[in-house]
Amino acid sequence: MKKIILTGDRPTGNLHLGHYVGSLKNRVKLQNEGNYDEMYVFIADTQALTDNFNNPKKVRDSVIEVALDYLSIGLDPNKVTIFVQSMIRALPELTMYYMNLVTLARLERNPTVKSELKQKDFGSSIPVGFLNYPISQAADITAFNATIVPVGDDQLPMVEQTREIVRSFNNIYGKTLFEPKAVMPDNEVCRRLPGTDGKSKMSKSLGNCIYLKDDSNTVKKKVMSMYTDPNHIRVEDPGDTKNNTVFIYLEALSNEEHFKKYLPEYKNLDELKAHYEKGGLGDVLVKRFLYEVIEDILSPIREKRKYYEDNIDLVYNILKEGSRKANRHADETLKRVKKAMLIDYFE
Ligand code: ATP
Ligand code: MG
Repeated sequence: MKKIILTGDRPTGNLHLGHYVGSLKNRVKLQNEGNYDEMYVFIADTQALTDNFNNPKKVRDSVIEVALDYLSIGLDPNKVTIFVQSMIRALPELTMYYMNLVTLARLERNPTVKSELKQKDFGSSIPVGFLNYPISQAADITAFNATIVPVGDDQLPMVEQTREIVRSFNNIYGKTLFEPKAVMPDNEVCRRLPGTDGKSKMSKSLGNCIYLKDDSNTVKKKVMSMYTDPNHIRVEDPGDTKNNTVFIYLEALSNEEHFKKYLPEYKNLDELKAHYEKGGLGDVLVKRFLYEVIEDILSPIREKRKYYEDNIDLVYNILKEGSRKANRHADETLKRVKKAMLIDYFE
């Protein structure tokens, strides 16, 4: 069996640190290790339209923004096929056939969809397209015969739904599709990075993000106003590091090199945490350190972004060429699917 990696992001805004630790970093690592047959990364505009159908401009503008984010974090179009979902003609057709294999009750049970429905306040007027998006995600994954899907933990129910569809399809029509496996970061805090508000996960739709393209001042402002431990009022007070967003970010982002460079009084995060928990360590010092760590990560990303912003035609060409290549693969899968379903009348 071929090893095929596939992941995507919704063009609903720019990519943020949650994407970086939850998925992007892993993708670049996988890309550079080269231990795969094919790797696809796509911009899920069709999916973004399911809950942003009345804001097409936002989705269109975000497509190129996400592409810029991809290239600036180091995805390499010579190694990875980067494409736009709506450009792949086989996907809506596959979705249509898979819809027969899933019940409404099953879609409503999906915990990620459930919490998103609550967030979006659809009430009883849920657009069919939105509820259907896990099925369209199954089409994305299976169209490319993906076996490995690197994601954050909110996407596990989607990959599980895809596996069910694959099993059901193969049972009825004969072995045609492959079951994918979700891959999550080893570091647990990276699977669902909280937002700067400390409440829900960092999410484009919630406005609680530090974006990869944020400039230095913006990052500083966001970090300095971050949520910490509400009971850590005076410097001498013992503080909590577990439900403290600043420490959670340090857990996700910092390493011993950062300590050597920016906070040599401490050897590593454990030492810093111990001091904070004992009391005598102020929030401002910890936040300043976090700011340095984030800057260390974002500076090279910003620089690369600038190059692609100045060469935007290049970015469009990468997407166009990637979509052309992706279509070839997906067309081939659709052909096999139709053959299995006995609807290949004129072949
Ligand atoms: P939206 O609010 O529009 O849904 P989002 O910020 O949730 O946007 P997505 O495009 O839905 O981002 O997610 C893309 C990928 O990034 C998925 O694999 C998802 O699991 C991962 N991801 C998103 N947010 C986080 C987060 N806060 N921590 C870890 N991974 C995340
Ligand atoms: Mg999301």
